[in-house]
Amino acid sequence: MADFYELLGVSRSATEDEIKKAYRRLAREHHPDITGGDKDSEERFKEVTRAYETLRDPEKRRMYDTYGSDDPRMAQGSAQDIFGAGFGDIFETFFGQAFGNSPFGQQGPRRGGNAEVTVVLSFEEAVFGVQKNVTVRLPVVCGSCAGSGAQPGTSVQTCATCKGAGQVRRVQQSFLGRVVTTVPCDKCRGEGKIITQPCKTCRGEGITVEDRSYVIDVPQGVDEGTTLRLPGKGPAAAHGGLPGDLYVRVAVSKSDRFTRDGINIRAQQTISIAQASLGTSILFTTLDGQETISVSPGTQSGAEIVLKNKGVPQLQGRRRGDLIVKIVVVTPSELNDEEIGLLRRLAEIRGESISEPVDQGIFSKLKSAWK
Ligand SMILES: [Zn+2]
Ligand SMILES: [Zn+2]
Repeated sequence: MADFYELLGVSRSATEDEIKKAYRRLAREHHPDITGGDKDSEERFKEVTRAYETLRDPEKRRMYDTYGSDDPRMAQGSAQDIFGAGFGDIFETFFGQAFGNSPFGQQGPRRGGNAEVTVVLSFEEAVFGVQKNVTVRLPVVCGSCAGSGAQPGTSVQTCATCKGAGQVRRVQQSFLGRVVTTVPCDKCRGEGKIITQPCKTCRGEGITVEDRSYVIDVPQGVDEGTTLRLPGKGPAAAHGGLPGDLYVRVAVSKSDRFTRDGINIRAQQTISIAQASLGTSILFTTLDGQETISVSPGTQSGAEIVLKNKGVPQLQGRRRGDLIVKIVVVTPSELNDEEIGLLRRLAEIRGESISEPVDQGIFSKLKSAWK
């Protein structure tokens, strides 16, 4: 479960009014009546409703801020719990009778669902931003009938029962007295229109499935999992509704030299014992070009050298992270006689005792003892 503040797109210090406004906006966007029962939107609606339920209540909000949950049941329960319990309340607060009695009725304009596509970027592209082409298979408005669902040349009739409104008012007697409800028209299934001859291409749906290509401007500073939203570029809605949104999820290929650490980049540079002891400068290739790294005398393995502002630009902001280069001192192996002599001489001068390494035999004895 995502962070409740993030879900609502408000800061941790948001006022009750800001939270209410954010929820109202999101609820309208994702309400099942608006999205035409799209599964993703429905899930989203449940999530934001749940977040709002918690954050609008000062006591629950305080619990959530302290424990990351308002109570144990909330922490573990499924979205269904809260949906079943508190949903009616909220629904009425914000939507009143506008959507009729049933929260999942079919009145109102239908909107296409949302779709997601993944774009794979190189490490550098994610850091600096890039334009990418993506192709995604989507429901689109049928080209043959222009979305009407009627076979070209045939007519679409206005439904006589609801006179094109798509819904009818029904008066019912209940223990509360006379109740007027608005329900979808049975005759035209809420469309307001009756198609006499369905379009052959789309079988009357008004939409077909096709590949669509978009050029995406990926901003600098994105990272694995960043999602970009292209409003109105998602699946078309049946019968003239608004298209949904296309979400572009970013995947970033690994670099063999660099790793991301938020807006910082990490890298390694190996140096020899002599370089570490005496100090040196090294030409290091950053994402921006070559930089001189200064290794001071007596540098230990694991020391970090920070190259300011050579990291990742902030996704939203003007800052840029740093490039942190970890120095790894490599112990020389496979020495020749001269080198051995020099190192022994060095040890002698420094008063370090060099005794023979322990016989390998001991290790093999240890090994057999373990078996
Ligand atoms: Zn068609
Ligand atoms: Zn009708």
